[in-house]
Amino acid sequence: MTDRTLKPCPFCGHEAAIQPSGDPCEYGRIICSGCHVSTLRYPTIRQMEDAWNMRVETDCAIEDPASTGYEGAWSHE
Ligand SMILES: [Zn+2]
Repeated sequence: MTDRTLKPCPFCGHEAAIQPSGDPCEYGRIICSGCHVSTLRYPTIRQMEDAWNMRVETDCAIEDPASTGYEGAWSHE
């Protein structure tokens, strides 16, 4: 088991947490404890972590998400 850590929220810097979906086909999603931005739901923790951490690293795209192709992978409730 690898020790993977979630990076802070790219928008507000708060901690991110895994939120289980309760659906057997979807493990859950990662959601920010501060501004509640979240990834889509994914079937594995690893996919969620990759989605979350990748987004953090592409912070240059936050100003203009429409140009990145990533906007469909995020929701903001
Ligand atoms: Zn946040």
